Amino acid sequence: CGVFGVFNNKSAAELTFLGLHALQHRGQESAGIAVSDGYDINIRLGSGLVTQAIKEEDIKELKGDIAIGHVRYSTSGGSNPKNIQPFFAHFYGGQFAIAHNGNLVNAERLKRELEMEGAIFRSTSDTEVFVHLIAKSRQPAPPHINLHKNDEDFLPHVFEAMKKVKGAYSLVILREKQLIAVRDPHGFRPLVLGKNRSGSYFVASETCALDIVDAEYLRDINPGEVIVIDDAGIRSYYPFEHTENPKKCIFEFVYFARPDSKIFKDWVYSVRKEFGRRLAKEYPIDADCVIPVLDSGLLAALGYSEESGIPFEIGLIRNHYVGRSFIQPSQEIRDLSVRLKLNPVRDVIEGKRIIVIDDSIVRGTTSRKIVNMLRRAGAKEVHMLISSPPVVSPCYYGIDTPTKEELLASSMSIEEIRKFIGADTLGYLSLEGMLEAADKTKGYCTACFTGHYPVLDELFEEIQIP
Ligand code: 5GP
Ligand code: SF4
Ligand code: MG
Repeated sequence: CGVFGVFNNKSAAELTFLGLHALQHRGQESAGIAVSDGYDINIRLGSGLVTQAIKEEDIKELKGDIAIGHVRYSTSGGSNPKNIQPFFAHFYGGQFAIAHNGNLVNAERLKRELEMEGAIFRSTSDTEVFVHLIAKSRQPAPPHINLHKNDEDFLPHVFEAMKKVKGAYSLVILREKQLIAVRDPHGFRPLVLGKNRSGSYFVASETCALDIVDAEYLRDINPGEVIVIDDAGIRSYYPFEHTENPKKCIFEFVYFARPDSKIFKDWVYSVRKEFGRRLAKEYPIDADCVIPVLDSGLLAALGYSEESGIPFEIGLIRNHYVGRSFIQPSQEIRDLSVRLKLNPVRDVIEGKRIIVIDDSIVRGTTSRKIVNMLRRAGAKEVHMLISSPPVVSPCYYGIDTPTKEELLASSMSIEEIRKFIGADTLGYLSLEGMLEAADKTKGYCTACFTGHYPVLDELFEEIQIP
């Protein structure tokens, strides 16, 4: 998912619309915007792309200077319209709306506990757990925290909720007069802070959403940090006394984030290209050209070509009028959309030894079709290289990977996968290579590649850990 927030701008709803548009790659299932006029929060939600979900009339009706927005990509809770965010609630202290990127690992258990105490859930999304935890919290702020007087009524509720949930959450919360940004103590998902020349503040999943509203990147929201923005200024709190080791999602660099974004303080573009350079060092192959599987393999292929000296070509043309293939829910549609999406350029391929580069193999549908397509277009040899290690385990922190059984690499060896996709060579970037490219010192989650999960629900752990 993608989240966006703006404080102190007459066009808060419009800017949120633009911000969400820039974050569209993070979720295409639904979108929503909540705006506060200082007294009341209004909200508009819809299915599909931002431009389909939010209409011009909606924007006109959303009056106010503070706003948050969300684009959804279903990982938890399915594609039920009830799960469209932001979520809105009245509680005894007023109103708030919340939008979440990430996935909680103990949501089901918390939900059961809350239901036993009488809570009624209206969605199947893990995010709604936050709504209830915040609304029912009665704990004061932790003793090491000195709250500004504007933060006394609400922030302790947020802190208490943060201590109860486990997993990944980058949040934007809207109050009548405040914008609040929250990042979980592991910092799984990115979240950045920006400001424009007229003094409006912005919070976004990625910097590409700051660019679109002409705001400057100030800094990342840190793991475990809560930032409050209101008329009294901007304040930062760390509710956890000990911040844990960061576990930033390395897959954001591999695939999810946009290459024109800076996340986790690094440019996605450079890291992705470096994956390709490392791939060239790990797999020197004698070939006529290197081609990317667009768009996700583009920068790794460019890096491979630069490092190896093998010419870069566009050997597969992408039709841009179809969504990302894996986001379509059913296998049948997924099968079809690979063909809808990519078509080989016979002129580039025929009679050539081709290195084709993609970012990942999940179910193997894409790679298998691509290899077949390239052979039918006359390729002499097809060498498939992947700019990340084999995906062996599902993600529980907000990336939509299928179950372990559906992950090709969870049950097949690399040689078996090579045969399955029909390539002459199949090579994956090593874990070391990937981590070094992203600067290994910085603390990344690699669970989908290693099966080592940094946080799990205790009950869950007993069942799931092999
Ligand atoms: P496959 O066909 O192997 O299931 O999917 C591989 C393709 O899906 C790659 O081209 C990759 O770009 C894309 N992909 C990237 N990230 C994800 C993800 O999080 N989940 C899924 N299912 N596919 C992804
Ligand atoms: Fe990212 Fe993979 Fe960790 Fe999920 S399991 S947070 S996709 S690195
Ligand atoms: Mg792809």
